Amino acid sequence: MIKNRKSLEEYKEGILKGDRAVLAQSITLVESSLPSDSDLASSLVQEILPYTGKSIRIGITGVPGVGKSTFIETFGKLLLEKGKKVAVLAVDPSSQKTKGSILGDKTRMEKLAADRRAFIRPSPSGTTLGGVSAKTREAMLLCEAAGFDVILVETVGVGQSETAVKGMVDFFLLLMLAGAGDELQGIKKGIMEMADGILINKADGENIQAAKKAKNHYRNALHLFPPSENGWYPSVITGSSITGEGLDECWQIIEKYQQKMLNSGFFEKNRAEQRLKWLDEYVQYLLGKAFHEEAKVQKLLAAEKEHVRTGKLSPLTFARNLMNVFFENFQVKNS
Ligand code: GDP
Repeated sequence: MIKNRKSLEEYKEGILKGDRAVLAQSITLVESSLPSDSDLASSLVQEILPYTGKSIRIGITGVPGVGKSTFIETFGKLLLEKGKKVAVLAVDPSSQKTKGSILGDKTRMEKLAADRRAFIRPSPSGTTLGGVSAKTREAMLLCEAAGFDVILVETVGVGQSETAVKGMVDFFLLLMLAGAGDELQGIKKGIMEMADGILINKADGENIQAAKKAKNHYRNALHLFPPSENGWYPSVITGSSITGEGLDECWQIIEKYQQKMLNSGFFEKNRAEQRLKWLDEYVQYLLGKAFHEEAKVQKLLAAEKEHVRTGKLSPLTFARNLMNVFFENFQVKNS
């Protein structure tokens, strides 16, 4: 075991007490790729499972500059005022270097981070898809066990990451700008279809009228989509993350959604499906990992991959050969 690791009991106890430092350390543990950490991490997730599930999980997406971090700061403070405890799994600005001019070196969500009833965790850079890491689900459960009742998962609108986040949250909120054009905002039809709510942000000052126009535009556009499985029609509202206008309405919509979905049974059905999807993804991950770690597989790959590259060897044949080698050795190891 490496330095700074606690025992299972210490992690569990700290988390259940709502200790933010232990919570942060436990997320580091589940994010760790060290083999010595993975047993402890999965035991911990299993141990805290009975204390999870009581929060509302909200995904927040939108292009860089739309105002995600400003929104989360203002919205988060509003929720604290309502007596909620808020955890944010956020995009790490250092993983967004290309957007340097937008994010700069400012500390995101500074005020919210300073509040003891809030917890902010940036995703580890390098391993994320628009801010969503392979371990975001685990981090969410740990936050719930620590008593946080609203979990905000931020992701940058880059396509794939929305699908990943949609698959792990209860409510999916899309932030948009008025007058920027759908293409400019990188918003694809599929992402709008995924949204349970759309907030036209920066509806303040001279931008108010344009925001109202955009609201009507998106409301009309959404009517062209087939209704979603749960019978919910995505709400479109305007708001300002600077003045706070519209953010209370946003929370009311989320609460209304939650109540409706709880009543219809969709809430639990959705979470049940998400758990099975998680299982499926994790099995695939473990298989892939075991496969690539197998020395004989590595050897064969190194020896013959070039023939696939040059077109002499069919990828199908080679893949099957590799699988055979993998299974032969995998069985030996486990017998
Ligand atoms: P992110 O990249 O989506 O996280 O966007 P930021 O929260 O960093 O916001 C980008 C810029 O837009 C910053 O300069 C914010 O101050 C500004 N901004 C964010 N929300 C609003 C808003 O509601 N109104 C106005 N006028 N500016 C905003």
